[in-house]
Amino acid sequence: MKYLIDTITQVIHRSSYVGDVCDFHTTPLTQRESSQDENYVNRLYEETSYTKCKHGYQLAVAPSQMHL
Ligand SMILES: [Zn+2]
Repeated sequence: MKYLIDTITQVIHRSSYVGDVCDFHTTPLTQRESSQDENYVNRLYEETSYTKCKHGYQLAVAPSQMHL
């Protein structure tokens, strides 16, 4: 799994699910980071103010939970 990290909005996107709703394309290349390191991504999420993109992460959960 590859992650795309937006250092302006501080949102972590899953690269397979990144789309127009993410607004990731408006972020300059220099402000983007990509990582395949899940530990690094989780550390950002848990220890900093980074959040996980709802769009990509919702798609990743079981379909029965998608309406939540
Ligand atoms: Zn996203």
